[in-house]
Amino acid sequence: MPADSAIRSFDDYVKTLYPDYDAFHQATHDIAEDVIPYLLESDDQEGIEILKYLAQPDRVIDFRVDWRNDKNQTETHRGFRVQYNNALGPYKGGLRFSDSVDLNVLFFLGFEQCFKNALTGLPLGGAKGGANFNPHGRSDEEIRRFCQAFITELARHIGPTTDIPAGDIGVGSREIAFMFDHYKSITGRFESALTGKSPAFGGSCGRQEATGYGAVYFTKEILAHHDDSLEGKRCCVSGSGNVALHTAEKLIEQQAQVLTLSDRGGTATFPDGLDQETLAKVQRKKAQRQSLQEICEKYDFEYHDEQKPWQQKCDIAFACATQNELEKQDAQSLADNGCRYVIEGANMPNTDGALKLFAEKGIVVAPGKAANAGGVAVSGLEISQNRALMPWNIDRVDEELRKIMKDIHKSCVKYGEQNGTVNYIKGANIAAFKQLSEAMTLYGKV
Ligand code: NDP
Repeated sequence: MPADSAIRSFDDYVKTLYPDYDAFHQATHDIAEDVIPYLLESDDQEGIEILKYLAQPDRVIDFRVDWRNDKNQTETHRGFRVQYNNALGPYKGGLRFSDSVDLNVLFFLGFEQCFKNALTGLPLGGAKGGANFNPHGRSDEEIRRFCQAFITELARHIGPTTDIPAGDIGVGSREIAFMFDHYKSITGRFESALTGKSPAFGGSCGRQEATGYGAVYFTKEILAHHDDSLEGKRCCVSGSGNVALHTAEKLIEQQAQVLTLSDRGGTATFPDGLDQETLAKVQRKKAQRQSLQEICEKYDFEYHDEQKPWQQKCDIAFACATQNELEKQDAQSLADNGCRYVIEGANMPNTDGALKLFAEKGIVVAPGKAANAGGVAVSGLEISQNRALMPWNIDRVDEELRKIMKDIHKSCVKYGEQNGTVNYIKGANIAAFKQLSEAMTLYGKV
């Protein structure tokens, strides 16, 4: 069967299973586009069956979360955990608290997580979860009560050898602390059932920074492969959360120029490049839940209401906010302004239209499953430290993180290099699929 028809048939199969899950279709299609031609070249029909197997998660947990707000009223939200695949290890992936959380989003994130975790080379399966709860504007006490109600329901489904959630959008170290404390109370066990914990109670140092730092380490590998370096590169960063701010921090350390940060409201621009002192101010204020607009007003930074960062002239774009944040017209403006590399700090931040345009223009794209794998990698290291009851120092964690990002880069080059150029998306997809399919074949899954 020609590759195009085989991809269409796979897409139809997924759409029949889950007709309304468009973000999930986008993620499965992106993998199929690279993996199916690769499998057909070697007439690997079993591989196609494994891909179809991966189009369904192992299990979906969908639960009610009742909790009391500051007015002593009961509020009800939906909580979810999609335990996607545990061929390589216990289910592992973040929890997201946002009003946009639904099963469509969590299927796509869970599916991506399986491939990302496979790339790290660590024994981690894939999962994703969260709730349609928006923490913005809630008091600390409300968030604590919500976290307790959420984990009361989820606790029976997680554990150090079954499923180990971490943070994601709307779930940072504060929320993990609330949930871990309550997990301990319910189960009576101090065990590695959550990662992203503070080093004060069993977390790994460097976990908070790992996704952003890892994305920069991965970018360094890409640039080195192109006989280039980060020094003096003009970088646009989107977002101003965990991933974006740590990406910016590491970029400044590497003497790159960080020109932008953004949030849901708009974009802050720093025409001469952010410095560490200014970044620290933004970090402090963001931790107090202030918007970029408020921060820019206070410190007199340039702010562009409702604008994205992609109109700025830059060499490298770091998309670190959320899915589908970079659309075709944004890609066009980046290309017109001479951008040469796009790094996905977030999960699936580029729309299909944007990706097609980057491919046409020869702009290198580092996919999220490779570029942002540093977070889950250090979560894996956190589990190792917990099991051994032996914390590592930051130098050791950082060295391991660099090594993992370097190895992921090597895998991408191995499966993505053709005629002297590297297609990182293809390389990451095939390398991860091979890892998963080897385990699933040995299990006799197809
Ligand atoms: P945070 O919640 O800390 O930050 C998210 C940032 O993105 C915030 O600045 C937020 O704005 C902004 N944002 C969210 N939605 C939108 C939107 N619709 N339009 C514009 N801006 C938006 O999340 P993280 O930094 O942890 O995660 C960012 C991305 O990275 C996500 O895709 C996540 O899945 C991915 N990721 C995270 C990892 C981690 O370790 N944290 C690991 C791997 C991937 P505002 O400040 O206004 O809320």
